[in-house]
Amino acid sequence: MNYELIMATNNAHKLEEVRQILGNTFTVKGLRDIGCTEDIPETADTLEGNALQKALYVHEHYGVDCFADDTGLEVDALGGAPGVYTARFGAMNGYGESHDADANIQCLLDKLEEAETRTARFRTVIALVQGQEERLFEGIVEGEILLQRVGEEGFGYDPVFAPLEADGLAFAQMSAEAKNAISHRGRATKKLAEYLLKK
Ligand code: IMP
Repeated sequence: MNYELIMATNNAHKLEEVRQILGNTFTVKGLRDIGCTEDIPETADTLEGNALQKALYVHEHYGVDCFADDTGLEVDALGGAPGVYTARFGAMNGYGESHDADANIQCLLDKLEEAETRTARFRTVIALVQGQEERLFEGIVEGEILLQRVGEEGFGYDPVFAPLEADGLAFAQMSAEAKNAISHRGRATKKLAEYLLKK
């Protein structure tokens, strides 16, 4: 049976990544496919809260089974910040607009200038709402923040995040396949896939 599931995103890159991992058993559609064009509220103060808020919104307003993700970068020297505020980190500190990757990276590098440790992790939480059921799936990749930007691939903080498993390479120096195999979002999505395939 081919089961249809909505991912609460309009990000084509994320949809493609998830479709690759979930394979042919599921048809994954984005928000545009169901005519959802409004901004979905994301006002919680945890990744779990935001992911669930987005998935529940779509489930309630559109009557479809749905999953949503939220990702944060947790830097040890900053007490786990920016965490749930990762997309807005630069803007909150006077560096450019929200979601501006270059401003976010510059803010991070400046804040870590005097830091003794540069360890960090990306954490993704996926919330699934299926009928009356709610479930959370987590994916983590440990790494460190580089002293300067390297590489051209990927997006967001990829030029300054080097996963421990990649021998010093930054995410921005890895192919999409190599990154997906160890990334926070890849890991959370695999857990979602395992759960859905077992049902
Ligand atoms: P979102 O929850 O996917 O919107 O991501 C929140 C923030 O984390 C945004 O600033 C993204 O650019 C950043 N981010 C999420 N995933 C990645 C990644 O795989 N590499 C680099 N930055 C990421």
